[in-house]
Amino acid sequence: MATPGIGLIGLAVMGENLALNIANHGFPIAVYNRTRAVTEQYVAHRTAGKPVTPAYTLEEFVRTIARPRSIAIMVQAGKPVDSVLDQLLPLLGPDDLVMDCGNSYFEDTARRSAAIAPTGIHYFGVGVSGGEEGALNGPSIMPGGPEAAYPRIAGVLGAIAAKVPDGPCVAYMGTGAAGHYVKMIHNGIEYGDMQLIVEAYDILSHACGFSAIEIGAIFAEWNRGELDSYLVEISAAVLQSVDRDTGRPIVDVILDRAGQKGTGRWTGQDGLELGVPIPTIEAALWGRNISALKAERLAAAKVLKGPRQSRLRGASAERLVAAVRQALYASKIASYAQGMSLLATASAERGYSLNLPEIARIWKGGCIIRARLLNEIQAAFTRDPRLPNLLLDADFRAAINERQAGWRHTVRTAIGLGIPCPAFGSSLAYFDSYRAARLPANLIQGQRDYFGAHTYERVDRNGAFHTEWLVPEASANGARIVTSQPAGRGGGH
Ligand code: NAP
Repeated sequence: MATPGIGLIGLAVMGENLALNIANHGFPIAVYNRTRAVTEQYVAHRTAGKPVTPAYTLEEFVRTIARPRSIAIMVQAGKPVDSVLDQLLPLLGPDDLVMDCGNSYFEDTARRSAAIAPTGIHYFGVGVSGGEEGALNGPSIMPGGPEAAYPRIAGVLGAIAAKVPDGPCVAYMGTGAAGHYVKMIHNGIEYGDMQLIVEAYDILSHACGFSAIEIGAIFAEWNRGELDSYLVEISAAVLQSVDRDTGRPIVDVILDRAGQKGTGRWTGQDGLELGVPIPTIEAALWGRNISALKAERLAAAKVLKGPRQSRLRGASAERLVAAVRQALYASKIASYAQGMSLLATASAERGYSLNLPEIARIWKGGCIIRARLLNEIQAAFTRDPRLPNLLLDADFRAAINERQAGWRHTVRTAIGLGIPCPAFGSSLAYFDSYRAARLPANLIQGQRDYFGAHTYERVDRNGAFHTEWLVPEASANGARIVTSQPAGRGGGH
């Protein structure tokens, strides 16, 4: 068997499939897993006839790979990655290359990159999306690290990535933690997409009384148009599935308590850190968090009453179905606008040099958020790479304008009937806030100056101003006459 030029550590669901994908594309690969029995099982059942060489110690694994070595790590994110690196790095030398292909937190990747750089070992943080199926048949891959070393791995990553008409779903993302950062935002957007879809289901279920099977059929129909996406497709399939034991739609017997692993939360935290509004993603996060309060919700449902819910029928129901479809697409645009803004801001703040059209392109295949909409997003950022917000693109402006009435009808209907729609509502509020020439932040500044002398700016003069609010000079017709003084001159602090 040819000497492997690449190796992979970690043979759980992602690693075992990614290693097979690499081998299936003709790249001999060495594999290693901490627990020996896992490697033995893998070799016994999955690698026959493929150029996969098992190793049972890290030393043997490293020796098996031709120099300069390229090694992928696919273990549980967090401390396990540090533990593997602590054992692996002393066995490597300059010009070897290590890529962490798990869902590592981008700050961890930045820390590891900085620590490893002086050793001459090239360190990459590589986001891999698409789950088990993607790992085997073609994921979307987001590599970040030292650009000069990227050609070393471009060939193998290009071979194993998902393919779309304009190329493989992989591109060099940028330096340091850029790859893991983009993967994190991908997952945040995924949270937003999922929450929007489940709100569409919830509204149609409660407002129109449609069964899960009926809503599944509606989603399947939507998936043939502008909403064509992996998540709408699988939602239709889940809704149309029936539980063998009870004969009921399977979603009706699945407990309504959502799990999460953390990447969506990290996106929310970084939005707050960088001051970039991402309300749809935040709504998706608290939507999952409140779902986890199942016992409290059961108790609250007995005592907290909402409006009486009368069912929409006939033409009213048909109108709502059409409106929810429009709300879903418009909200998705608002959500992606937020995610892309966060990418642009992080890129500028942290020097990633992210290429937004390329990011939209590599998300078109292999990953969880793959969707027809990404073609339009790629086109918008290709037309204007400095576009400050997707909502300003002429095509997206037109798309939202066409759907604005349906979007508002959906949110109004849900609120009127007491059906929670945090992501639809936040997406619409984002749109309305972004297009507002004047927001009520003027009063916030007044409040801040009143209680903390934080000063404020004026619309008619430059500079910072302060008012002595507690001592109005006079009162006239109930109004308090106050003076705006330049801050620092006997006024603000
Ligand atoms: P996982 O359950 O996250 O991790 C299990 C693997 O990590 C096993 O190979 C395990 O080895 C190894 N491991 C754990 N602690 C270790 C340590 N201290 N030292 C050495 N090895 C250690 O596996 P996964 O689901 O395949 O995911 C791998 C990575 O891909 C994760 O970062 C995950 O977040 C990311 N990811 C997963 C998916 C998915 O759909 N599952 C999708 C995209 C990305 P042992 O067998 O010895 O325990």
